[in-house]
Amino acid sequence: MIEEKAYGMKEELILIRRALHKIPETEFEEFKTSDFIREKLNEYGIPYEVVCKTGTVATIHGKNNDKTVLLRADIDGLPINDESKFEIKSEREGFMHACGHDIHAACLLGTLKLLNEIKGTLNGNVKCIFQPAEEGNGGALPMIEENIMENPHVDAAFALHVEPLEQTGNIQIKDGPIMASPDDFKIVVHGVGGHGAYPEKCVNPLSVCAAILNKYHNVPEEYGLPCVVTICSLNGGTCRNAVPDTAVMTGTARSADKKTRKSLINILREIADNTAADMGASIEFDFNILFPPVINDASMNDIIKQSAVKLDCVKNVIILDKPSMAGDDFAYFGEKVPASYFKLGVGNVKKDAVYPIHSPKFIADEDALPIGCALMAQIAADYLDTFNA
Ligand SMILES: [Zn+2]
Ligand SMILES: [Zn+2]
Repeated sequence: MIEEKAYGMKEELILIRRALHKIPETEFEEFKTSDFIREKLNEYGIPYEVVCKTGTVATIHGKNNDKTVLLRADIDGLPINDESKFEIKSEREGFMHACGHDIHAACLLGTLKLLNEIKGTLNGNVKCIFQPAEEGNGGALPMIEENIMENPHVDAAFALHVEPLEQTGNIQIKDGPIMASPDDFKIVVHGVGGHGAYPEKCVNPLSVCAAILNKYHNVPEEYGLPCVVTICSLNGGTCRNAVPDTAVMTGTARSADKKTRKSLINILREIADNTAADMGASIEFDFNILFPPVINDASMNDIIKQSAVKLDCVKNVIILDKPSMAGDDFAYFGEKVPASYFKLGVGNVKKDAVYPIHSPKFIADEDALPIGCALMAQIAADYLDTFNA
């Protein structure tokens, strides 16, 4: 029944997705996006609360009030110019839904509409949250701090994320860590500037940056750690013949387990300190701790697998052998309750149109919309049936 209802809504899901696709907005400025979502909820007759300005929480109360399952969609876009060949373009210059959060929001609106129609059969409550700022400093934690895990108390949480490198109809899942902690850092190197003709009289901060960069990129192998360290910007100097006093380097340091994450911070600080000291420079090291890794609960994954089998539209459940080194602040829900985050294949587009998320050419297959919608609804119903028995 759930699958039929989801496919019955396919055209509507596409219209919703396209409307959101045109108006990508970033970090707590998702005003038009959240207005659109709330108008749809009004149309469906589903009550909601506004949380953290652009966040929305809508709860469906089933026949039994013991358990509540949370479903989450993130809603923000990226400051990336839309260069895709998709027929619908972003109408905001310099901004794009390049991470598919428009798909997530459309699927969840569909799930809400669908579950609202069958709420008399639901064995508990379904709390759906439309979360801002996933791409920025995170909207999950501020929403949790506004008490969204209570009234009614949330017992488990699920989220999906589009994956353009997977075929439409397939989902990807993994027990334990599935996404990394996407921490980042900034290093300011203070050297001694001077004339480019006399490098021996200078301490070139760019040389110090280069030395640190090389050592950083070798960290995963040298320390045998499951992590990535990538330098993403290096700035210093103003002309061709003068050594600057300072240079600034930024990058990202990612790992999917808490132990590695902790040792990585110390290793990076020590390398930067020692390298600079050996070369006669000094540094300011600023490490920005972002989201924890996303850790999937095996019994919640079992619910997803069980739900997937019930839906003809889900062809394969692919078990990933290692976590992605991207991050997602859905991790904070997993720190509160058993949770699972899975990837929804959206990759059935023309062969030369397959690009990863965050590419300005990213395209998602809209045939995945009813699949995501049906699967989220099925998971919610199955979770409640299993844990509210
Ligand atoms: Zn993203
Ligand atoms: Zn994303």
